[in-house]
Amino acid sequence: MSNKAGGFSASVDAMYDRAVGLMDLSPGLAEKIRVCNATYTVRFGVRLRGAIHTFTGYRSVHSEHMEPVKGGIRYALAVNQDEVEALASLMTYKCALVETPFGGSKGGLCIDPTQWEAHELELITRRFAYELIKRDLINPAQNVPAPDMGTGEREMAWISDQYQRMHTTDINGRACVTGKPPHAGGIAGRVEATGRGVQYALQEFFRHEEDKAAAGLAGTLDGKRVIVQGLGNVGFHAASFLAAEDGARITAVIERDGAVTNEAGLDVEGLQAHIRRTGGVRNFAGGHYVEDGSSVLEMDCDILIPAALEGVIHKDNAARVKAPLIIEAANGPVTAEANEILLDRGCVIIPDLYANAGGVTVSYFEWVKNLSHIRFGRMQRRAEEARHHVLVNELERLSKNKNVAWTLSEDFKRNYLRGAGELELVRSGLDDTMRGAYGAMREVWHGRNDVPDLRTAGFIVSISRIAASYQAKGL
Ligand code: GLU
Repeated sequence: MSNKAGGFSASVDAMYDRAVGLMDLSPGLAEKIRVCNATYTVRFGVRLRGAIHTFTGYRSVHSEHMEPVKGGIRYALAVNQDEVEALASLMTYKCALVETPFGGSKGGLCIDPTQWEAHELELITRRFAYELIKRDLINPAQNVPAPDMGTGEREMAWISDQYQRMHTTDINGRACVTGKPPHAGGIAGRVEATGRGVQYALQEFFRHEEDKAAAGLAGTLDGKRVIVQGLGNVGFHAASFLAAEDGARITAVIERDGAVTNEAGLDVEGLQAHIRRTGGVRNFAGGHYVEDGSSVLEMDCDILIPAALEGVIHKDNAARVKAPLIIEAANGPVTAEANEILLDRGCVIIPDLYANAGGVTVSYFEWVKNLSHIRFGRMQRRAEEARHHVLVNELERLSKNKNVAWTLSEDFKRNYLRGAGELELVRSGLDDTMRGAYGAMREVWHGRNDVPDLRTAGFIVSISRIAASYQAKGL
């Protein structure tokens, strides 16, 4: 039986059950895939400011059909077992959909990271990591965390170092965690990856006339009015790439202390700098301040990007949300009940298990890089450039010999001659992943007449792959 008790897990389960209802899966296997395999709870003390403080943390393993299992570690006061388990299950479905060879996991620590100094957070993080490492809940072959809300490169570097101190002879030690800074085994483009993935997902959606039509949209992303909820790492990168590279207009940003709107389009970088300086969006000169931020979710727009917490669109506000297209940059921003209400009124939702998979996709590249001990492109880059030079030199020789009236522009030569570095390769791999996964979802969405939405299609693709993997193991 699915978890019907309410809450985040129940919401993910309801979406899962909806897809399973359309599949030919034995009830036993459906149940095996749905349940969370294990959740480890740890309470540990750290001496800080002259007293012992006790912290509670979790690492949940949803599915080990592939190992290592993968998923971020969240630092927030609201972290709880149900949330961590729901997020771990989303990791399983997400990894299967974008074909990263991982099972699903997630971790969390109940802490408000803004209340502690960096050196205190380091002690807390190292102690939490120690507890998980000694139980192989952080391990390059078994369980590989990454950043999530409240954590970033810095915390991942501490975790990686902690693992390596405890496993001094493990040559693959750096692969125990992803999202590390570049100088500590990280990969170019990981910080922006989830936001970049949201952009690539939207670009792919806009390549399909039929899909745009389902949302009542047409044309390109150029000029589209976009509302972003949460200007954290994911929301910020998605918004700035969409504005700078696709010509979208960010007409509103919703943050903790309210929202700012500007029909002409907000300056996203300027707004982020303002938030960093003042702690919120209030008094931002480039827009109109609205105290009741959540009311802005209901404003007219073309695309709504919830990029912060789960459950922000729920049964009580869903009917008032006007966006024809929602792309879930956060995990679980639309509850199962809200999902039904939105689908009934024709809203198209690009679901979280696809939309925010850019992070884990680039984490996969980082993990492979760590295991292969070499930066992507290091062997090929100059060889590629040399071959391009041969072609350009030959074309130039021919044009001189035959007195041809054309020359290659300097701009063309600069772009063509340059071999791909790590960042370009990462972006290319991410773009390819997002296109491929969308294609798989879309085939089910349009190819079957009993699949009404992209989320159900995404779940069907994921669940079939996970089921195949369990069946191959003989289960
Ligand atoms: N925390 C991110 C997510 O929810 C990234 C996970 C990872 O890279 O393992 O997808």
